[in-house]
Amino acid sequence: VFTAATVAAAPEDPLFGLMKAYREDPSDKKVDLGIGAYRDNNAKPWILPVVKKADNAIHNDPNLNHEYLSIGGLAEFTAAAQKLIAGGDSPAIQEKRVCSLQTISGTGAVHLGGLFLAKFHPQKPTIYVSNPTWANHNQIFTNVGLKLAQYPYFSAQTKGLDIDGMLQTLRTAPTGSVIVLHACAHNPTGVDPTQEQWRQIAAVMRERQHFPFFDTAYQGFASGDLARDAWAIRYFIAQGFELCVAQSFAKNFGLYGERTGAFHFVSAPGPDAATASSHIASQLAILQRSEISNPPAYGARIAGRVLNDPALFAEWEVDLRTMSGRIQEMRTGLRERLEARGTPGSWDHITSQIGMFSFTGLTEGQVKILRDKWHVYMTKNGRISMAGLNTNNLDYFAEAVDSVVR
Ligand code: PMP
Repeated sequence: VFTAATVAAAPEDPLFGLMKAYREDPSDKKVDLGIGAYRDNNAKPWILPVVKKADNAIHNDPNLNHEYLSIGGLAEFTAAAQKLIAGGDSPAIQEKRVCSLQTISGTGAVHLGGLFLAKFHPQKPTIYVSNPTWANHNQIFTNVGLKLAQYPYFSAQTKGLDIDGMLQTLRTAPTGSVIVLHACAHNPTGVDPTQEQWRQIAAVMRERQHFPFFDTAYQGFASGDLARDAWAIRYFIAQGFELCVAQSFAKNFGLYGERTGAFHFVSAPGPDAATASSHIASQLAILQRSEISNPPAYGARIAGRVLNDPALFAEWEVDLRTMSGRIQEMRTGLRERLEARGTPGSWDHITSQIGMFSFTGLTEGQVKILRDKWHVYMTKNGRISMAGLNTNNLDYFAEAVDSVVR
């Protein structure tokens, strides 16, 4: 029989445990490079000015109420989210073969996609994630009963992409496997394929009839350019792939706690594509109903308003460049400081990697010394959140890294 006593304690979530240790550290030197949330140059959370504006307008809207959204979410939001992914003039959208549901941020979108595949894929496919990947991928896909496997991704030697290893595994994976791809700003490594490498990946996937499952949590946040950060997804769609996309607006709108995201399924072109797409939408709606009934309204109202208003949209693009620009400056600043000190090793990867995170190459032992002696907090795989760096702590952090590497 089931009793409370039969439940063993679960391990603490490593990232949230790290945040707690940071909060409890009384040192005034402490540096938080753990969690992936944007911080301004004063290490404070940043409300995007355009979000504040949209928020005020919504607040003052006399027609606002707190009724349920529909099962699929706020239509003006999902329609705009779709355009952001596929491009405003996308034939896939015109041909009505993209179906989209609003989800509980990116996590909820990954989950809905995993659940859908677990239920509707006829072969119970193996789902391949990059090694390493966002830790939550493993739990989410396992929880819905999918078999997990990994493809090589990060090369410890070059601190860049192991493209040969990746392609080799894609070639030998069972036909029709599901392949999870980070659309841009790969978490945790900061390493993205080049456009040429994406073409190679697509060619192998097409040959092996693999199904691409894109996870996009950093569009516009990586390069500052929305189209550029969506290039890989748009390329795969243009190549005629059937695919799905889990989209998060946590980072690029700073709407972390509002849980704003969407799941998109793109059907392959063809005379029956729109019908197939409507069938998929109907099944997704059933799953969504039993999981969350309907998604939360607040964040979607904000993002929807910005995405649908050309003037606000342009302001959003400025805010995206503010965030991505500051992060790029921190990359350059860190690399310059380490090189100026003659810190052993090569530090090119700090600037060739992109987005919120950098895989520094620091070892678990070095990470521990950084935490115990220098009050610098990062995950034990050596990943740092670039957003935790600023002009006040960059020198200190470079000094700390230099000392543990020597
Ligand atoms: N996928 C990846 C790769 C991520 O880095 C994140 C954010 N940490 C997410 C999905 C989803 O985050 P959220 O649920 O907060 O949108």
